[in-house]
Amino acid sequence: MNIALDLARAQNGKTGDNPSVGCVLVKGGRIIGHGATAAGGRPHGEIMALRDCPDPQGAAAYVTLEPCSHYGRSGPCVDVLIAAGISKCFIAARDPNPLVNGQGIERLQSAGITVTIGDGGAQAREIMAGFLARF
Ligand SMILES: [Zn+2]
Repeated sequence: MNIALDLARAQNGKTGDNPSVGCVLVKGGRIIGHGATAAGGRPHGEIMALRDCPDPQGAAAYVTLEPCSHYGRSGPCVDVLIAAGISKCFIAARDPNPLVNGQGIERLQSAGITVTIGDGGAQAREIMAGFLARF
């Protein structure tokens, strides 16, 4: 999670209206993919990490913000994570956006993904303070 937070921190201020989110994919004790929200706010960090990762099946995802579950200008990240075969998802902070709040977590859980929330939450909220203040 610390690496995901560092990735988010590095992109902070460059992602427009979207929060800077870091994502690290781990399998067999090794980092197999990582990414952060792209400049301008899209693609989201989860998508950037999966693009960097040839074989995410069974991996654990460490994400600094609850993956999005709504259809905005891009498809929801939860669907992409589920389709990629992620087995576990560690989330630092819940998304306060009423379109997401808790629903991303629920969707992951109902797809059989083990979700753990809160590790790194304080740091994630600090990075996303500007975004969080809008809700
Ligand atoms: Zn997303």
